Amino acid sequence: MARPVQYNTKVKMVEIPEGYSGEGFYATNFDKAIGLARKNSIWPLPFATSCCGIEFMATMAATYDLARFGAERMAFTPRQCDLLMVMGTISKKMGPVVRQVYLQMAEPRWVMAVGACASSGGIFDTYSVLQGIDQVIPVDVYVPGCPPRPEGIIDGFMKIQELVGNESLRRRNSDKYKELMESYGIR
Ligand code: SF4
Repeated sequence: MARPVQYNTKVKMVEIPEGYSGEGFYATNFDKAIGLARKNSIWPLPFATSCCGIEFMATMAATYDLARFGAERMAFTPRQCDLLMVMGTISKKMGPVVRQVYLQMAEPRWVMAVGACASSGGIFDTYSVLQGIDQVIPVDVYVPGCPPRPEGIIDGFMKIQELVGNESLRRRNSDKYKELMESYGIR
């Protein structure tokens, strides 16, 4: 006799976006359908320069397992990624490199500053350290902590998912977004 299939009830299914449904149909708007796909298939680019990078390794490993969020596909080529995760102290010399990596990513792209150093320079208020990566590129989510625990990184990642899922498809063409880019000298 075939064994009954046992489903893991602890596994949370992806939420269905708001819409209309009836017998045999379901309708929602295009923004929400694209947002749903994007937020559950983010490809991160880890830009790790110091200790926060080690916390990120723990975040990727089995106990915390970022793959559960559909984000297990790390890549070190900006052209394949849509989330830049900057983790660690960024020196002023490294600033243009972070910026170049950001510029090589295709739109839509998002940025997470992980930890005190990436967010504000952290404890390194010195002549050589960039006092936050938002001096060279726009940042979507800041994760506090020195270092943040993996739970903190996951929390930041979920905030990014929220932004990705709710972003209008027109945002990147809006005047406000263009202004933001121009304020960083990016066209
Ligand atoms: S925030 Fe703290 S743990 Fe993270 S890179 Fe800076 S010094 Fe290291």
